Amino acid sequence: MSDTSDTNVVAIVAAAGRGRRMPGDIPKQFRLLSGKPVLWHTLRRLNEIPRVSRIIVVGHEQDSELHDAVAGYGELSKVDGMVFGGSERRDSVLAGVRRTSLDEEIILVHDGVRPRFSRDLADRVIDAALSEGAAVAAVAATDTVKIASEGLVLETPDRDSVWQAQTPQAFRRELLLQAFDVTPSIKATDESTLVERIGHQVRLVEGEYDNVKITTEQDLKLMQWQYEAGQESSSGGTLRVGQGYDVHRLVEGRRLILAGLEIPHTKGLLGHSDADVLTHAAIDALLGAAGMGDIGRLFPDSDPAYKDISSLVLLQQVGARLAEAGARIVNIDVVVMAQTPKLQPHISVMESTLAHHLAVSPHHISIKATTTEGLGFVGRAEGIAAQAVASIML
Ligand code: MG
Repeated sequence: MSDTSDTNVVAIVAAAGRGRRMPGDIPKQFRLLSGKPVLWHTLRRLNEIPRVSRIIVVGHEQDSELHDAVAGYGELSKVDGMVFGGSERRDSVLAGVRRTSLDEEIILVHDGVRPRFSRDLADRVIDAALSEGAAVAAVAATDTVKIASEGLVLETPDRDSVWQAQTPQAFRRELLLQAFDVTPSIKATDESTLVERIGHQVRLVEGEYDNVKITTEQDLKLMQWQYEAGQESSSGGTLRVGQGYDVHRLVEGRRLILAGLEIPHTKGLLGHSDADVLTHAAIDALLGAAGMGDIGRLFPDSDPAYKDISSLVLLQQVGARLAEAGARIVNIDVVVMAQTPKLQPHISVMESTLAHHLAVSPHHISIKATTTEGLGFVGRAEGIAAQAVASIML
């Protein structure tokens, strides 16, 4: 691995696409997602990548929306002006490449209409370009691809060898310049094609199916739906889901604690801690969503520090860990399975208690209670079970 900490990466964003089927149509890069242009979202994501030191936007001079998308919404400190490209992608990107300087070792090329790539993907593409000169994000084809002419299939390539190229793509600057120089007549739809044509190998980097290029009205609608459904937080990230399940035995001589509340009952749950089965399920769902293991691993039974501890303290610690990792809790839904006692009167206090300890508003938390109609260990009142699902943006 090369030392990448001081790599100077310049990003070129191709935003000159016309896509106007009818006069008055607005190209996709200027359509709005959560009230801001698609291009702005793309640029903001690039702006957040520490290794990208400068962003060059290549636009079309006839696009009156361009200036606003780049300068009108703030938060894009690394964007260094605009370049106007030609009508072909090749000419556009080349205009951007000509604005790069010698000390900019790596050129990252990205489509203005791909706002959802992850920082991790950009980092992996940059790393691969550093070690091998040229790299392209790509996903394995999920559909079978046909080569056809005039409506007739000529050939069906083996799907295992078919990949769909995305951006970001990254190149050592001198290699990309050479590729443009040597292939003046090739009108490629991506830059890695030019590098291939001069005989240099291009490294495939596993891309992301989420990293959609907004091309059709349908793509845009889906993306708008995702943004508006809150699946795209202002700090980026993807929606992740986790589940949790827990059971504790009901015994005499213990208090019954659920979501931190003491519920009046003749029996309580047995456990090393307060045996708050509901909170334990919620904790495991959150940890699962964040890929941080489970409650037993974080707070082992064998550790006396957790003996009789309030599970709300553990919940709070888990909430803090998630926040530290940059996660935002979208929602938690818990179902408690108990034959007795009746939990309905306590639900809303339980919801606010969990919310309070996670520092989220109570409408992010849902708790439901059910009996099991007398069936099984729950039905015989031998124990209480809880199941939870949590979703987070991370
Ligand atoms: Mg437990």
